[in-house]
Amino acid sequence: MLKNVSVVGAGTMGNGIAHVFAMHGHQVTLVDVSEQALEKALSTIEKNLDRMLSKGSITEADKAATLSSIQTSTSLAAGVGSADLVVEAATERVELKLKIFKTLDQHAPGHAILASNTSSISITKIASVTNRPNRVIGMHFMNPVPVMKLVEIINGYSTDPRVTEQIVQLSRDLSKVPVVVNDYPGFVANRILMPMINEAIETYFEGEAGVEEIDTVMKLGMAHPMGPLQLADFIGLDVCLSILQVLHDGYGRPKYAPCPLLVNMVQAGKLGVKSGEGFYVYTPGSKDLVVSPRLMR
Ligand code: NAD
Repeated sequence: MLKNVSVVGAGTMGNGIAHVFAMHGHQVTLVDVSEQALEKALSTIEKNLDRMLSKGSITEADKAATLSSIQTSTSLAAGVGSADLVVEAATERVELKLKIFKTLDQHAPGHAILASNTSSISITKIASVTNRPNRVIGMHFMNPVPVMKLVEIINGYSTDPRVTEQIVQLSRDLSKVPVVVNDYPGFVANRILMPMINEAIETYFEGEAGVEEIDTVMKLGMAHPMGPLQLADFIGLDVCLSILQVLHDGYGRPKYAPCPLLVNMVQAGKLGVKSGEGFYVYTPGSKDLVVSPRLMR
């Protein structure tokens, strides 16, 4: 069993990944360069466990056991020293990931599998900076991790099929549904999702319909739980832009060119939920969905 799991990066995704592994009997070390991020992650995990407790889906003992299975570290080298599996969920920047994987390769035990939760960066490229490309794989969890069932498993060019099989089995053990795909830009999830989000932005940009109208058509007409513009805000407009750039660079096809409005919004710091404004404005404590006044027609 891959008992000891180190999760690198304690942000939106890292705290959820740590939560899920700890709840399923793994010893977790959560690593971040920021002490503040680690504290915030632990309090988010506790809040999410409390929500599960109040719904009756876990007991007080489950909550206590989960929390006691998570330790934290601000040192990457020390934090992965006894890992059987590392799941990297640090900021989506190629140079950063390459640097992290070089360090992981030096300090994680030789048998450890090194996985990345990247949304779009090539697993083959990440693997190429290590001396164990056959033990590097993509393990792409969805947000929010404790809730979403899918794990998109990405085989790098050199990933050993036995490693893929171990990660498939592990994902099932975490009560997730694994889907194995090959390593090409955007993988499957974002290759399909991001052009849809971009098209929704173009539809607004070209004046065909307003923000609410576009989201309502997709919610009520296509049974999407969230409209594409609201979903873009939830994912982060900077993240959407960077994935579209990866698709555009990787395939060289004009259909992946990001809408100029998306580029402008990111340049203006309007990143969606995390910055308080994107296609909608987000007021702490309010669940109302209010279109950004800048985008009202
Ligand atoms: P985030 O910005 O919320 O968190 C990133 C964390 O990484 C921060 O706490 C930061 O301090 C930490 N970090 C930066 N450099 C580090 C280093 N050298 N060592 C350790 N920690 C470091 O980002 P996120 O949204 O959680 O995304 C993390 C990864 O997950 C990215 O690769 C992203 O593409 C992917 N992802 C995100 C989503 C999503 O909806 N947000 C969904 C699927 C996958």
